[in-house]
Amino acid sequence: MLAPAVAALEAQHEVVVRCARQAIDEARQRILRGDLNAGDTVVAATVSLLAELLHDPYPPVINGTGVVVQTNLGRAPVSTHAARAMAAAASGYMGLETVLASGERGGRGSVITALLRVLTGAEQSLVVNNNASAVFLALRALCGGREVLVSRGEAVEIGGGFRIPDVLRQSGAVLVEVGTTNRTYAHDYVAAINERTAAILRVHASNFAITGFTARPELRELAEVAHAHDLLLLEDVGSGCLLATERFGLEHEPTLAESIAAGADLVCASGDKLLGGPQAGIAIGRTKVIETMRRHPLARALRADKTCLAGLAATLQHYARGDAEESVPVWWMLSRTAAWLEQRVATWLAHLDDGRFSSVATQSVVGGGSLPGKTLPSYALSIVDPQRNADVVARVLRSQRPIVFPRVEDQRVLIDARTVLPEQDDELLVALKSL
Ligand SMILES: *Cc1c(COP(=O)(O)O)cnc(C)c1O
Repeated sequence: MLAPAVAALEAQHEVVVRCARQAIDEARQRILRGDLNAGDTVVAATVSLLAELLHDPYPPVINGTGVVVQTNLGRAPVSTHAARAMAAAASGYMGLETVLASGERGGRGSVITALLRVLTGAEQSLVVNNNASAVFLALRALCGGREVLVSRGEAVEIGGGFRIPDVLRQSGAVLVEVGTTNRTYAHDYVAAINERTAAILRVHASNFAITGFTARPELRELAEVAHAHDLLLLEDVGSGCLLATERFGLEHEPTLAESIAAGADLVCASGDKLLGGPQAGIAIGRTKVIETMRRHPLARALRADKTCLAGLAATLQHYARGDAEESVPVWWMLSRTAAWLEQRVATWLAHLDDGRFSSVATQSVVGGGSLPGKTLPSYALSIVDPQRNADVVARVLRSQRPIVFPRVEDQRVLIDARTVLPEQDDELLVALKSL
């Protein structure tokens, strides 16, 4: 007979048997190592294996870290409008490749191309799985077997295994480094051009900053150099920003429209950083360049799925309508003022009659490879528990439900009000009250 706890999980009989065998094997190993009581935990271990398989595989999390684009927590949350569009695309059929009126085959991304055209000025676009695949496909399709010029200061690692020199090598293009780590001039690129050169690649320094004695040419200058020598200018801009970040007290982050206006032939960006949409790689640029990428066999292997396209189109519509600041969560978070956040923390505190909680001024960061080292003044709920140190409290918050990911700073646990989503106040209070 099944233990009641196992029966309650309602798993298929064979799945229960496999989990039990795994638990028994593990207990046996522990007994062999001298833990003679390990057999007592077999039922509990089976239940926990089954629970892992059957419950909340990706439980929702309240982000109290103050990092807006938090890669470990899933990067950008999408807007309600985008989430609905993605759910509808996932659960039904949709007019993906069919031109609805005629019933003929059309392009998968034609609405997205039309939106990106009005938002960035680019002639054409192609959406792939993520920015890493966009850059890889571009180098492979446009520069395979030929040389690509990259500034020494831009032959960088973006994180998670994306290193420009490695991506170039894998793509079949040949990396030619020009200039120095801190200073590179237009004439450094010119000096490296020969008959094997295919392109100049500019990489945005998304997750670090070189400061001090530095120089690098404007994108416009690079476009002039490239086009005077019949080369392509490719840019990996990273964050895919469509709004002027300085309006929110942040440093200027290059926008997609600026890159196109400066003369880049191709610009690649992520869909789930400052654009605030689903995971995607967005390639925009000249028709000839995009069509060469689209026709390459790898394009099929890297293509975006229907939920991504639906979510991206819905996200871009916010920018077209002009409501991105309120509706796209990344921009809602970035546009909150310190005074507004201070008030939000005060509202939380009013529900928490507990001396362990207080309000403190802090700094949020954009994260996700955008605006490195730049912070925004914010407010956080601070927790100081006389019974437990900060790391223990943080661990409890991460392990109970609702799950809260806080930040630990100076022996305090902080929950930054900027990154808690607008509809999460009640859940957060539930988590805090059960501490
Ligand atoms: C984030 C980033 C990437 C990788 O983008 P993914 O969408 O995570 O694949 C590549 N280049 C730059 C400059 C980036 O900032």
